[in-house]
Formats: sequence, structure tokens, C-alpha cells
Amino acid sequence: MLKKKKDPNILKSYKFATKVIHAGQPPDETTGALLPPIYATATYKWEEVGKPKTHKYSRASNPTRDILEELVAALEGSQYGVAFASGMAAIDGVIRACLRAGDHVVVSDDVYGGVYRLFEKTFRKYELMFTYVDTTDPENVENAIRDETRMIWLETPTNPLLKVSDLETISEIVQQVNHQRIPKGVEVEGELLETRILTTVDNTFMSPYFFQPFKWGADISVHSTTKYLSGHDQLIGGFVAVRDDPSRWYYKQRPIEDSVFVEAGIESPKGERKTELVNTIYEEIKFINQTVGSTPGPFDCWLTILGIKTLVLRMKRHEENAREIVSFLIQHPKVERVNYPGLEGHKNYTIAKRQMTGFGGMVSFELEGGLEAGIKLMNKVKLWSLAGSLGAVESLITHPATMTHASIPRDVRLAHGISDGLIRLSVGIEDPDDLITDLQQALDYV
Ligand code: PLP
Repeated sequence: MLKKKKDPNILKSYKFATKVIHAGQPPDETTGALLPPIYATATYKWEEVGKPKTHKYSRASNPTRDILEELVAALEGSQYGVAFASGMAAIDGVIRACLRAGDHVVVSDDVYGGVYRLFEKTFRKYELMFTYVDTTDPENVENAIRDETRMIWLETPTNPLLKVSDLETISEIVQQVNHQRIPKGVEVEGELLETRILTTVDNTFMSPYFFQPFKWGADISVHSTTKYLSGHDQLIGGFVAVRDDPSRWYYKQRPIEDSVFVEAGIESPKGERKTELVNTIYEEIKFINQTVGSTPGPFDCWLTILGIKTLVLRMKRHEENAREIVSFLIQHPKVERVNYPGLEGHKNYTIAKRQMTGFGGMVSFELEGGLEAGIKLMNKVKLWSLAGSLGAVESLITHPATMTHASIPRDVRLAHGISDGLIRLSVGIEDPDDLITDLQQALDYV
């Protein structure tokens, strides 16, 4: 039932910079084409009734999408990945696949505004409950867990305050709670049915190059591939990778379909329904994705595959540039506060240094003079584009209060520390001198 991906052992032996170029993409068998073909087709011809070739219908699967799924899953250190049409569709898929009415989620308090909107405006209607805490203190997570808790939703670093959560400690807390929840008489730890808590990480800000959530105990890693993975502001996309260890997934009893008996040539049992114990999560996320068609088209998959080939080079350069911008900002008299996890003075510097292999290209800061000064700066920059995205080669400047986090009520936003005057930078890969000169002239004007 579970689709095992090709040659996982060969893939595992490659280093990250090799995987970004080769994982999931052997040269095309018929033509030798080095880049994967774009299979722009909705449907596929069957060999005969009951005998499709490899694919049936592109909502369910498409060869270009298969390659992207294998590639990003491999970068996250797994065989199990599902590509989505957007980061939000990926998040929606995880919640709907894993949770049900009455379940409770503990969420990082300054998540991306669209995530807050989805949770509060959509999922509250389906009787899911969300508690927002500062997850940089694992004790806050522990205290927020209650009987109904089924998921911890971490954004690390957070958007836009760049707060970093200690994933290893949080995962340990979750494992302890899960252990206590094993029903009496059940010997296999994995057989927790649907009571176990899953730890999900939104890994958009770091990309798998700088952060590998599964190494620190996460069950699910989510991406907006719109950002660093595709990397060129060329598309909207999302991804969910599931930990490569089904014993950590939850299990459930599922009725065995009649077709299984037909295929096996056995007469279907009459009377009582036979059930099987199956592990889920990956299957259920894939099922939602295929059933509703929250899938990316083949062109977008191909562009994402192409973008990923330069991920390592881009991430290194994003970070180098971010460090230069941060050095410039912290010494500037008009700048009041800079948030960057690579700054030794950052509250979570120690944990960021331990669990990530780099600090990324995202920076946020506040000016003396607050909102008014910030608006002047954002309207005055020339090379930086005032835009609401991140993670691409172009440098972007964003005003979270009116752009990315506008859907969060002001009092909630302020309580989470996102001030009106906060400015967010997605540092691109241009020449850092030009980026600094542009910021300098805008600051002179403020
Ligand atoms: N997660 C984070 C951290 C984001 O910043 C965003 C978008 O900005 C999303 C998820 C949603 O992704 P998308 O815009 O691709 O739907």
C-alpha cells in the first residue's frame, strides 16, 4: 500500500549538494534528456480494462510531480513527500489529514499571518482548537498540552520575529506524553491509534539546507516552496514531508475494501467487515491531496525542480548577504532593534547555532520613530522591492503589520510582539554593497 521510493539507500549515501541535483531524477530512459520531461497531460491511456500503465489521472499522480516529491522528500531525509499547489494548501492538507473535530493544537505565537487566518477563520468552524504560545520556551509547550492535544505546530524561525524553538526538547516532551498515552495492554509503542501528538515544523524560512527537522524529532515538515526551494519568485507551491519511520506514525483500523479480496482472488467475507491495522499520516495526506486536487501542475513542478538545483549556492549567498546587512543595521544610529538568529545577542542564538547549520537570509528590525519612520524607509528604497513574499533571489522589504500579518487582529499581533513599525527583509543574492547603499540612502531620508 505504501509507495516506497526508488533506491533510497543510494540516495541516502549522497551528500546534500549532490541530492539537490540528482535525487529522484535519473536521465530520461527513452531520450537521455538530463532534465526531467514536463508531462503536461491530464490523463493516461490504459493497456486494457483493469490494467493502467504507470499513471491513471494527473490529479492522482503525474510523473513530473513524482520526481519533485522524491527530490524534496530526499532533501528532508525521507522517502515520503507530497507536493501541493501552495504552502497554505500543504498546511490545510496536514491539518485535515491528521486531525478531527475536538482536537487541539499548540501553535507558535508569531506564525505567518495566513496560517493564523486558516486556523482561526476556517478550522475553528470545524471545532478544532488552537492555543498560541511562545514555543521558544519548551515549558510553555508542555504547559499548553492537554488531553485533546494532537499536534504541536512550530514555525522555527518564526515569521517575522525570527524566534527559534528548541525542537529536540519539544520532541522529547511530546514523546513522553505519547508514551503515557499508550493504552494498557498495547505492547508496540507505535500502536497509539489516533491519540498520539504529532510535531509539525514549518521549515519554509531555513529550507532543508539549513535545518533538518526530522533529525531533531519532528514527524512532519512543511514548506511553502514558493520561497527558498523554488527560489525565483516564479510560482506558488507547497510541500509536506513525513518522517521516514512509519513506527512513529499513528495506526488505525480500516475496513478492508472488497477490491482487495477480488485482486487476491479470494471470496470476500460475508457478514462482519474485516479490518486491517494500517499506518497512516503519509497515506492520509496523500489521499487528501489526490482527492481534492490541491496539487501543483507539471510546469510548476518542473520549475521547482530547476530552482532546487541551485538551492545550496543560493542559501549560502542569502546568508552571507544577510550577515552584511545585519552588521550595517546594528551599527546604524536610527535602527533600534535587529532580529537575526545569527546575532550572538539574539535570545535564541545558542539553540539556533546548535540545531541549524546556518542562520538564513531573513532579518527583521525596528527604527527609532516606529511606524512613521518605517513607512518612510519602505517607500524610499529603490533596489529593494516592497513586496509580500520571501526567499527569492531578489531582495524584498515587507511591512508585516499591513502586508503578511494584516489578517491578525492588531491587539493579538501586538501581544505576540509584532509591532506596527516592524520591517522584514528577505535578503536576496545581489551585491551586498548595492543593497546597503540603497538602505543607507533611504535611512538618510528618514
Ligand atoms: N509558511 C510560511 C512561513 C510563509 O511565510 C508562507 C507564506 O508567506 C506560507 C507558509 C504560505 O505559503 P504560500 O504563500 O505558498 O501558500
